[in-house]
Amino acid sequence: MSKEPMDTFDYAPALESTAVVDIKAQYNLFINGKFVAPKSGKYFATINPATEELLSKVAFADLADVNAAVSAARGAFTKTWSKMPAAERGKYLFRIARILQERAREFAVLETLDNGKPIRETRDTDIPLAAAHFFYHAGWADKLEYAGVGNSPKPHGVAAQIIPWNFPLLMLAWKVAPALATGNTVVLKPAETTPLTALLFAEVCQQAGLPAGVVNILTGDGSTGAHLVNHPGVDKVAFTGSTDVGKAIARAVAPTKKSLTLELGGKGANIIFEDAAMDETVEGIVNGIFFNQGHVCCAGSRLLVQENVLDEVVEKLKRRMQLIRLGNPLDKNTDIGAINSSAQLARITEISATGDAEGAQRWTINCDLPNKGFWYPPTIFTGVTQAHRIAQEEIFGPVLSVLSFRTPAEAIEKANNTPYGLSAGVWSDKGARILWTAQRLKAGVIWANSFNKFDPTSPFGGFKESGWGREGGRHGISAYVKGNM
Ligand code: ADP
Repeated sequence: MSKEPMDTFDYAPALESTAVVDIKAQYNLFINGKFVAPKSGKYFATINPATEELLSKVAFADLADVNAAVSAARGAFTKTWSKMPAAERGKYLFRIARILQERAREFAVLETLDNGKPIRETRDTDIPLAAAHFFYHAGWADKLEYAGVGNSPKPHGVAAQIIPWNFPLLMLAWKVAPALATGNTVVLKPAETTPLTALLFAEVCQQAGLPAGVVNILTGDGSTGAHLVNHPGVDKVAFTGSTDVGKAIARAVAPTKKSLTLELGGKGANIIFEDAAMDETVEGIVNGIFFNQGHVCCAGSRLLVQENVLDEVVEKLKRRMQLIRLGNPLDKNTDIGAINSSAQLARITEISATGDAEGAQRWTINCDLPNKGFWYPPTIFTGVTQAHRIAQEEIFGPVLSVLSFRTPAEAIEKANNTPYGLSAGVWSDKGARILWTAQRLKAGVIWANSFNKFDPTSPFGGFKESGWGREGGRHGISAYVKGNM
C-alpha cells in the first residue's frame, strides 16, 4: 500500500544557536554592584535538564553573604534610591527594559538551557513579558500618586524577593520592576536550579548604570532564602513558590512588622460548557496544561467538561495531543521541553502513579523520550473523581485530570472544591454564562475562552492556599508602598 503524504511528513530540525550566550565556568554573588565570592567559598552546580550536562557553578550564599547584601540594599535605599527624583528612577527602568529587549535572544537561549523549556516559549513569552514588566513599571515610577494607593505613597525600604524555577527571568521581572519603580531596593534569590538568567540580569543592572546596591542577587538554596526572610534589616518579603514554603514564610514573618506577599500553588479548573467552540477550546485546554511542561502555578490542571460533550472533547483532545512535539528545547519546533529537575520528575511520577492506583484511566501520547535528561510525556487521566489525589494536589507537570459535570451549579461546586484559588478558565459561547460562572468561582484570575494569558497591566494572585497580594497592574504596586489611604 502506498503511503499517504501525511504519513511521511515530518519537521526538519530547526535548532537555535547557542553561540549568542557566553556561560562562565563559575559565577559569584552580586552584592553592591559587584560580583563577589561567597564568604563560605562554596559553589554548586547548575545543569541543563534536557541533557544533564553541567552548565556552570554558582556561589552558595550563607548568612554572612545575606548580611552583606541586605546592608548594601539598605545603604542604597537611604543614600541614593529613595532620594532620587521619581522620574530619574523611571529612566533606569526604561533602560533596563530596553537592554532586555536588545539582549532578548541571549536571555531566551540561556533560559532554555538552564530551565529546559522550549525556545519558542522563552523567545515569545518569558523574555518579551519580562521586558514589558519593566516598561510598564517604568511608566508608573513618577505617577505613583495616581495608583490609588494614597497621594504620597512611600516605599517600604529593603525588599527580600524569592522566586521559583518555572519562569526564572519573568518572575524576577514581576518582583524587581514594581519594587524599583516604587523606590524600594532589592535582595533577590533565584531558585537553585535556574540561577543563570538572574546573574545575567545582574550584568544588565551594571550595563544600565543602576546605582550600586539597588539590586543584589544571591544564589543559594532554601536556607539562603530563610536567612533572607528572617533578616531584621528586611522590610518587605515577596515570595513565589510552593504552598508549604509559603506557609513557613508566613509563620516566620507573622510576629514582625515586615510586609508580605505570597504567590503559591494552584489547581486551576478549566470549565468547558456544551456550547463552547470545540476546536478553539481544545487549543485552550492544551495551552492551559501543557504550556511550560505544566510547570505553571495557574495551569488548567483540572478539566471540568459538561457531561454531554465529554466524549467529544476527550477524543478531540487526544487527537490534538498526538501532534505535540516533545524534544530538544532548543529546536524551534518543540512544544514540550524537559522537566526542570530530577526531583520534580520524581514528584510528577509519584503523584501521577496515584491516579493509576486510585482507578483513573491514564492516556499518554505516543512519543519517544530522549535518553538523557528529565522527561515526562503529555498525559491525561479520565474517570477522575474529586476524591482522587490527582484532582486535589498540584502535580506541576504535563498531567491533566479530566472530570465531568451536568449543571452549571455542579461545575461551580467542583471547581471551588480545592484548597487553592489561583486561576480558572470558562469556555462558552454565551457571555452571560461566562460572567455568571466567573462571579461564582473563587479564583484570582479567570480567563474567558482563553487560558494562560499574561499582561503586566493585569493583577495576578490567589485566594486561600494560593497566597495573598497581587502582582501586576495598580494592585501590584500597592504591595510595594506604604500608602496613606
Ligand atoms: P519547589 O518545591 O517547586 O522547588 P520551593 O517553594 O521549594 O518550590 O522553592 C521556591 C523558592 O523558595 C526557591 O528559590 C527556594 O530556594 C526557596 N526556598 C525554599 N525553602 C525556603 C525557605 N524555607 N525559606 C525561604 N525560601 C525558601
